[in-house]
Amino acid sequence: MSDPIEYFEQLALSDSLLETLKQIGYEAPSPIQAATIPLLLQGHDVLGQAQTGTGKTAAFALPVLEQLDLAERRPQALVLTPTRELAIQVAEAFQGYARHLPGFHVLPIYGGQSMSIQLRHLKRGVHVVVGTPGRVMDHLRRETLSLAGLRTVVLDEADEMLRMGFIDDVDWILGQTPPERQIALFSATMPEPIRQVAHRHLRDPREVKIRASTATVETVRQRYCQVGPQHKLDALTRVLEVEDADAVLIFVRTKVAATELAERLEARGYPSAALHGDMTQVLREKTIEQLKNNTLDIVVATDVAARGLDVQRISHVINYDIPYDTEAYVHRIGRTARAGRAGDAILFVAPRELRMLRAIEKATRQPIERMQLPTQEAITGHRLAQFKQQVSEILNSQDLGFFQQLVAEIEREQEISPQDIAAAVTWLAQRDRPFQFEDDIPIEVEKSPLRPERELRPASRRERPPKDTGKYAADFDKVRYRLEVGHQHGATPQNIVGAIANEAGIESRYIGRIEIHEDYSTVDLPDGMPKDIFQHLKKVRVRQYPLNLSRLDGLEFGQQQPTPKRAASGRKTAKAEVDAPSTRKIRKRSP
Ligand code: AMP
Repeated sequence: MSDPIEYFEQLALSDSLLETLKQIGYEAPSPIQAATIPLLLQGHDVLGQAQTGTGKTAAFALPVLEQLDLAERRPQALVLTPTRELAIQVAEAFQGYARHLPGFHVLPIYGGQSMSIQLRHLKRGVHVVVGTPGRVMDHLRRETLSLAGLRTVVLDEADEMLRMGFIDDVDWILGQTPPERQIALFSATMPEPIRQVAHRHLRDPREVKIRASTATVETVRQRYCQVGPQHKLDALTRVLEVEDADAVLIFVRTKVAATELAERLEARGYPSAALHGDMTQVLREKTIEQLKNNTLDIVVATDVAARGLDVQRISHVINYDIPYDTEAYVHRIGRTARAGRAGDAILFVAPRELRMLRAIEKATRQPIERMQLPTQEAITGHRLAQFKQQVSEILNSQDLGFFQQLVAEIEREQEISPQDIAAAVTWLAQRDRPFQFEDDIPIEVEKSPLRPERELRPASRRERPPKDTGKYAADFDKVRYRLEVGHQHGATPQNIVGAIANEAGIESRYIGRIEIHEDYSTVDLPDGMPKDIFQHLKKVRVRQYPLNLSRLDGLEFGQQQPTPKRAASGRKTAKAEVDAPSTRKIRKRSP
């Protein structure tokens, strides 16, 4: 057995890639990376059981980049993804990891984007193509994409491709690739049809699976909070404001993020320090010492740096960035509830990370309770309660004679009532940290099942300002549509869901009941569909036949049902409430 891989330097990656990883701030390979990168570099096929959030993109992108011949301007790697969003995301990740590879070109290709743009890029020459199966097939059939120079094929989220009805397409595409190419297949689960594809196309694949830890973590109260990446800092501030915490350990994924977040918290008035692997041992020990002896309350750490950390006063662990695997999660939250105490763990989850959340729950066999962010009003109330308490504490504990005289002087000299003086002084006290709390987290509105139109238009029309789609946001009623494809055309529920979800950008969970008849089908889709999505869907093909959809009720597009009025469907606003304010022990720079 070779040594376990703990550092990127142990992987046979070039200096320029190592430099990039350092700049991005990755501290150590995630488990899937440590296991997969050496196998791919050695030329093995890989069957990897991993989901989003485990770092699997870098697990295949780094070996692909390592093995590229930049002088050869034709596709050397093809990545198939179930959705256009993932295709774009993976292409962006490639671009990021290739920042020190001049002349590197990656092209995302997906349905809904204009063919001519894709053709222009393909003609100019690209090294890596990331695409959805339908569009890749289109290009292969038209012979506008050549796979002759292909060395690696990656199937990303294969189980999603299966669920969306693309598995036959994937099978067909794999059949078009040169026989000596390498294949990496990633899937969160391994249902039989995926095993069959693997069996047909992979040669002696090495299986990589991320171990799931089931360690018990019963003394920790686990909660999660759904928050998009752009609002995490504000969300963290809100949490720090109202949680009754002693010391807080916040986990992020990179060294850069640790330093940055500590600085940003400092700037917001929460003294904090970073703890990561690039710091000297002396500095790390000093930080831990400060945490232990109550001179520091907030530490922002990476997984590696916090390994084995044992500080009894850590009452809260906040997973600011979701961990890569369940084992890391269990380790992280084990940093609280030390020495028989209770502890709190709060996890920030972006909507696309919900699967990782479920995986954690499954592995730890414990539900993680959803928490609402405290509202601005609740935080303001909390701050006021704190202030009132401080006032009464000071009255009870301090000798205020000098100050009472001063107030009397002001009262006399300026003829101001004591109440007005107190009000002015209160204003001064909160000037640097106003009682009235405000941040940028928008009021929570119910999400539209129809993604923003901007994403749905062909790229060539994207420059136009997006229309307001807000009016659809609260409307979840369904309309039944007729599609002109049925059994005789080979339509299945999967390929209908796949085509609609992928081509029209409607999340599959909002695609309702599908009935397939001999020469047509019906499907329930959210009411309030924007016209351009409707027009686009008419042309979308399943098994080469256009859907040609129309409303089953015979109404024209946009026409209202003459039925009684719907119950008012006002937008939902966040109605989170917090418990009665408690005295937060976290020190914050006081006014
Ligand atoms: P993925 O599972 O590939 O979607 O990656 C999830 C997130 O983890 C992305 O934001 C990556 O930038 C980040 N990431 C991937 N590998 C590492 C690593 N070794 N260290 C820190 N962050 C990483």
